[in-house]
Amino acid sequence: MRKVVLGKSGLEVSAVGFGGIPIQRISVDEAVRVIRRALSLGVTFIDTAAGYSDSQQKVGAAIKGRRDGLVLASKSGAPTRDGLLRDVERSQQQMGVDVIDLYQLHSVSDRAGWERVSGPGGALEGLMEARDAGHVGHVGVTSHNLGLALEMIEHPAFETVQFPFNLVTSEPADELVPKVRELGLGFIVMKPLCGGQYDNARLAFKFLNGYPDLVPIPGIQRAEEIQEIVSLVESGETLRGDEKAEAAAIAAELGKLFCRRCGYCQPCPQGVAITMAMTFEGAAKRMPRDRLVKDWALHVAKVPDLCIECGECEEKCPYDLPIIETIKRTAELARDIMDAV
Ligand code: SF4
Ligand code: SF4
Repeated sequence: MRKVVLGKSGLEVSAVGFGGIPIQRISVDEAVRVIRRALSLGVTFIDTAAGYSDSQQKVGAAIKGRRDGLVLASKSGAPTRDGLLRDVERSQQQMGVDVIDLYQLHSVSDRAGWERVSGPGGALEGLMEARDAGHVGHVGVTSHNLGLALEMIEHPAFETVQFPFNLVTSEPADELVPKVRELGLGFIVMKPLCGGQYDNARLAFKFLNGYPDLVPIPGIQRAEEIQEIVSLVESGETLRGDEKAEAAAIAAELGKLFCRRCGYCQPCPQGVAITMAMTFEGAAKRMPRDRLVKDWALHVAKVPDLCIECGECEEKCPYDLPIIETIKRTAELARDIMDAV
């Protein structure tokens, strides 16, 4: 498979990586089988996170005895130095490796969070310590907030950025992608299939093939999925005239519904976790049911009781999403899921 160098980290990875969210939903044996299938197809880059329940253990089980040539990435959402260092140690233990090639601050998506993690005693301090001690090879950041990402990537610590980019959320093409290139960072593409809200891999990857220096990490839970995606990436084919029109129509349609998780609509005066409710349908397809119920469904099901339809969030959403209507719909789904477990 074609290789891509992740900017100034110098890490050379396969042109498509393996995203470790959906393997939370499947058994260890299945996860090992899917990951090894990806490796056999030439995938050399695996991204997981301390926060993805047992994903790191499953990655560890799959790569046992086959670590050579792989680039492993993980991330931590711990806000403090100590929390970050604990997560790095846990990632090492769970994956059974001495060094994690790339470690990222996970989902830094609002200013207060960035000030906390980059301030004294914050997670970035711990991450630099972990790198200096040789526990992690390189340092990156992940985010859903475009304005903040544009700012954070100027921090000299970061060698890579991970951000959503797909045919629906293509806004990064305007400023973020050029700036990442200018600064010499690696760009890891989160949500190449719109976080589970879009399943036409052909158009999604032909769109991304137009950016061959970026590395998508689709979340995979079935061997057939990775096989199709690898073929599409290896083909190098980009959108043709009629496909461009098809993609534009899908982007226009889904773009009216797709939550970018940028967080601009928050906080809600009534305490609604709006982003969680807005992205619940996609999460329901990717997360294990028990975790979904524990972490998300309990809150999302209560949204209709909390929301007074003041409209403040819809005024703040730069994408004009129908937030009130959507969160009421996802609340019904959350209740159905809770009833079923
Ligand atoms: S409309 Fe509902 S969710 Fe939006 S800000 Fe008002 S109370 Fe919160
Ligand atoms: S609802 Fe709009 S403002 Fe809120 S997180 Fe989603 S895209 Fe961003």
